[in-house]
Amino acid sequence: MVLRLFNTLSRRVEDFIPLSPPRVSMYACGPTVYDAAHIGNFRTYLLADILLRTLTRAGYQVTYVQNITDVGHLMGDGDVGEDKVLEGARREGLSALEISQKYLALFVEDGAKLNIIPPAHWVKATEHINEQIAFIKALEEKGYAYHTSDGIYFDTFRFSHYGAPAGLDVGGLLEGARVPKNAEKKNATDFALWKFSQKTSVPVLPVGKRAMEWDSPWGVGFPGWHIECSAMSTHYLGEHFDIHMGGVDLLLHHTNELAQNEARFGHSAVNYWVHNEFVLVDGKKMSKSLGNTYTMSDIEKRELSPLAYRYLTMQTHYRQQMNFNWDALTAANNARERLSRIVRDAPSGGMAPEKSLAAFDQKICNDLDTPGALEVLWSVCRQDSLSPAEKRAFALSADEVLGLGITKSEEKEIPKEVRELARQREEARQDGDFSAADALRKKIRQLGYTVNDTLEGPKLLPL
Ligand code: AMP
Ligand code: ZN
Repeated sequence: MVLRLFNTLSRRVEDFIPLSPPRVSMYACGPTVYDAAHIGNFRTYLLADILLRTLTRAGYQVTYVQNITDVGHLMGDGDVGEDKVLEGARREGLSALEISQKYLALFVEDGAKLNIIPPAHWVKATEHINEQIAFIKALEEKGYAYHTSDGIYFDTFRFSHYGAPAGLDVGGLLEGARVPKNAEKKNATDFALWKFSQKTSVPVLPVGKRAMEWDSPWGVGFPGWHIECSAMSTHYLGEHFDIHMGGVDLLLHHTNELAQNEARFGHSAVNYWVHNEFVLVDGKKMSKSLGNTYTMSDIEKRELSPLAYRYLTMQTHYRQQMNFNWDALTAANNARERLSRIVRDAPSGGMAPEKSLAAFDQKICNDLDTPGALEVLWSVCRQDSLSPAEKRAFALSADEVLGLGITKSEEKEIPKEVRELARQREEARQDGDFSAADALRKKIRQLGYTVNDTLEGPKLLPL
């Protein structure tokens, strides 16, 4: 199995060659825990999960780290804008710590519903302040940092190839007119490494003392957003690691992370940058600011499985935008249920056809082509020449990578009363009493089930 991945750095699909096989180190930018993560956010973590499972299938031992942003950063362009954690705390009348604990717990719970394998380490920004301070100090010693009245900034022009590795148009990244300019910044692309709590040249911090602030060699304040990922990825995975992931809206964040790491270490820090495209609603990015988000609980309220969403995301390649709507999710739910039935109704003990397994692996290894992998799975399920047991074995093997949980059906347990009626109907049929059998079938239908007579006997299915 040779895995090929699209690398944002080279803008090409490349063979994946780890730094020290069989080990692979992987980092994904995690959530800012100030509200429930929406299903668009989960596309990123579902992709990380598929990559993790694919690497494992290919024989690698993966150390996967994900950060939890629980410091309220100023996430607007140019280090101004709203402080989301503090805003969430105010909204719900909780402390910053309580709000981040609440939404981290929900994030973990929702991830489990999506069958996402948890990372080896979930690392919180607030628990790695010393590492962040040490990173900033190292940058300062190398001449990459400078002071302003509101913080310590990274000098992007001092770093010779700022923006170049990701092919970014630096001009396009300049602060927009809607963002108040910070006159003390040397260059528009410079970003905060550390912000002071009290002194600020831009009147955007909440009045009064910040709920989260720390002492530092430069004064009381809080770290910039980008430094947390540089500090924690280095701490857990080393100065040079294999894969860094996130959604395409994190390109600027990653450009800044990359600049920090390379400035500090003087060499490349990450070999493969993997970015997923957005989930859209009616052609617009799903985002809290547009008010068009859905969460896992919205899916459950409609009595659809969260795993249907997992199936839905796999129907579109991760580098393409994916439009979300409820009809598509319902269709995905039905498709996943059909797969579950194929597995559940078949006897165990079959052998998965080797050729089809190779075709499946080839698709998934081709830059994580999940739509192609699903196609192979369905073509196996439809092949008349294969026995139900062979199809079952194949589906289970494919599901080690797809993680659709097709052995766990969401279908409700068939009530005892319905099973008893089905038994009586079968008895009547065997006795040739077809009118009694028909009457019993009607009763079963009234209870919300249908009986399908298959070669292996009658099967009850919900209507
Ligand atoms: P945030 O909590 O805003 O830092 O976002 C967490 C992750 O979700 C990041 O990797 C984002 O790039 C990603 N993300 C945010 N919105 C979307 C969307 N509509 N579709 C796909 N990914 C998204
Ligand atoms: Zn990050």
